[in-house]
Amino acid sequence: MKLIIHGGFFSESLTNQEIKKAKQEALTEIVKLGYKYLESHTAVETAVYAVSLLENSDLFNAGTGSQIQSDGKIRLSAALMDGKSLRFSGVINVEEVKNPICIAEKLLTYDDRVLSGKGAKDFARQNGFGYYNPETPQRRKEYDKKLSDSIRIGTVGCVALDVFGDLAAATSTGGKGFEIPGRVSDSATTAGNYANGCAAISCTGVGEDIVSGALASTIVTRVTDGMSLSLATEKTFNELKPINGFAGVIGISSTGEIYHADTYPYMVWALHDGEPLVFQ
Ligand code: ASP
Repeated sequence: MKLIIHGGFFSESLTNQEIKKAKQEALTEIVKLGYKYLESHTAVETAVYAVSLLENSDLFNAGTGSQIQSDGKIRLSAALMDGKSLRFSGVINVEEVKNPICIAEKLLTYDDRVLSGKGAKDFARQNGFGYYNPETPQRRKEYDKKLSDSIRIGTVGCVALDVFGDLAAATSTGGKGFEIPGRVSDSATTAGNYANGCAAISCTGVGEDIVSGALASTIVTRVTDGMSLSLATEKTFNELKPINGFAGVIGISSTGEIYHADTYPYMVWALHDGEPLVFQ
């Protein structure tokens, strides 16, 4: 059993040690709760649980406390991939919901598994996900000041390996901040979130770079073809160099290898394989 979670990149924490500490504490708490949950739940159930806890923390850019887009609205994207059934589901740019990852979970059993915008919101309402405003005063303050350096502050993700040896990945984001309405984040694509029976990956960073590198699916494919998770991740990150890609990933392979990589060393993440450890 292994669990790894991330809280994205954090530009504000470079100057604000208090926020950095708060994020580390939140990750420690959530990785512990997630690991406990994993003892009696599957990888896919645990990935959803851990990401929903991260969404509920206003420290991260997912669910409550997500960043505001250029037109003043918050739009959320999230995806789930079950490495056992090989099903991918997600929501793109859904408004006025609390936990987009739970809507992605609901969609996992449907034929149509990735919904966007109004269709995603209508589906959510029909399935009991009520109105919720994820805005916080802090995000409104940043938006009003149009702080360009507030980008990249904390998409969330989780990768889990359960007692049965099955893998799952879940990722959730409020986007990169101040984007053009309609912009699609990598988080609800197979570039940002991917899993199969061999490996599972959750990404954060600049969505356009992550999609250009087809990051999560490329790493998983390389592991499937026999590479170790660390080599597969490093090789794929090398391929981001020509575009100066900005990205970070967490991953687990079916052999139990856990790996993290980032192009800039200020991603926040935590793992639990019996003992909880927080990095950054
Ligand atoms: N990858 C997300 C996006 O581009 C942002 C992030 O990870 O912080 O929408």
